[in-house]
Amino acid sequence: MNAPNETPEKAPEKTPEKTTGGPQKKGANGSGRPTTAQIVDRCQALFDDLDFTAVREWKAADPARKVIGYMPVYVPREIIHAGGMLPVGILGGGDQLEVIHGDAYYQSYICRIPRSTVELGVTGRLDFVDGLLFPSICDVIRNLSGMWKLIFPDTYVRYFDVPQNYVDDIGGNYYVNELQELRHGLEAVAGRAIGDDDLRRSIAVYNENRQLTRALYDFRARAPWKAPSAEVYLVLRAGMVLPVEDHNRLLLDYLAAAESEDRALRDNCRIVLQGSFCEQPPLNLIKSIELAGCYIVDDDFMLVNRWLYDDVPLDGDPIVSLSDAFLHRSLETAAKYEPDGARKGAYLIEIVRERAAEGVIFAAPSFCDPALLDRPMLARALSRENIPYIAFKYAENSGQMQPIREQAGTFADSIKLWSDA
Ligand code: SF4
Repeated sequence: MNAPNETPEKAPEKTPEKTTGGPQKKGANGSGRPTTAQIVDRCQALFDDLDFTAVREWKAADPARKVIGYMPVYVPREIIHAGGMLPVGILGGGDQLEVIHGDAYYQSYICRIPRSTVELGVTGRLDFVDGLLFPSICDVIRNLSGMWKLIFPDTYVRYFDVPQNYVDDIGGNYYVNELQELRHGLEAVAGRAIGDDDLRRSIAVYNENRQLTRALYDFRARAPWKAPSAEVYLVLRAGMVLPVEDHNRLLLDYLAAAESEDRALRDNCRIVLQGSFCEQPPLNLIKSIELAGCYIVDDDFMLVNRWLYDDVPLDGDPIVSLSDAFLHRSLETAAKYEPDGARKGAYLIEIVRERAAEGVIFAAPSFCDPALLDRPMLARALSRENIPYIAFKYAENSGQMQPIREQAGTFADSIKLWSDA
């Protein structure tokens, strides 16, 4: 068992290395493919770069190129891609950004991501963004979309609503109209039509991205010591700023490298982490949980990668296909409305069983209504099944990992000693 005090505290602030996001260096493993260390170094540099240099370089390569940012949790990136534009995930400022101006726009008792996003905006770090989508997840994001319109009147801003009724001719009709409106809005930004064949090509490349992401999650669940969650996180986070075609190659390279490299198997328990779908936890929090003795074998980070859980069909009307996928083949999560109260938490039990997990860690941003309001119902569902859990909150800039390390370490010990789950 690992001593909880092995976990590093927050790293000192450093000047991020800028990265072009260009082709990965080939590795020292004799296969011609990069090693996991090389891939993770590249992803870490992308993660650290709050100036989004890779995106700026992509855009600068052609004056006609446009960038559409999106906030968590889910947007149909296929429509942006079909317009020849780059979708870029804006996931807050993390723990390296000092929020100075952003605090003036919001009250104190609120999560941090809207304040750090405003900070990124007003300091010019998002000046390459031609449009920004604010998906329907909570009032904070809704208010941020209105604020963005006021602060950046020349940017295309859309509050992207999703159905809370999954009947085809009610919520489905509504969502098809919403997707069509989004398509027309993006056409205006792109300066070109977005045809059905454009959409089908983009759906195909995102289907591949979803397949590879599922393969990565399955691989980590099978051999979590070979794909530490902090690495998996960085690899997926790179997909927030890289063109999807590059990210598909990166995922393939990481899977190949991780499969081929031997790593030490720790005496960790297996846990599912839930509640981190919007404001992202500090990377050190993810490392702390694993070093305290818990392998994360499933999570809800960056759900945009996995919101649709299988391929979107390429035949028929592509907008209807995207809508059908949202209605009938999308993940159940606290970030999505569940109309049947009796089913609340059923998905979490299924994940625990499917991943052979021994417990659940609820880790949610402070003041996050969608995550924290669901937590008691999810916890009750776990208790009924005798599945152990613990819960804590974080902010994207939390620096003190000692309490989390102790809590996760004690949880791991209790599972190993007493749990019959
Ligand atoms: S962290 Fe939670 S409350 Fe804050 S913007 Fe995201 S979903 Fe809303």
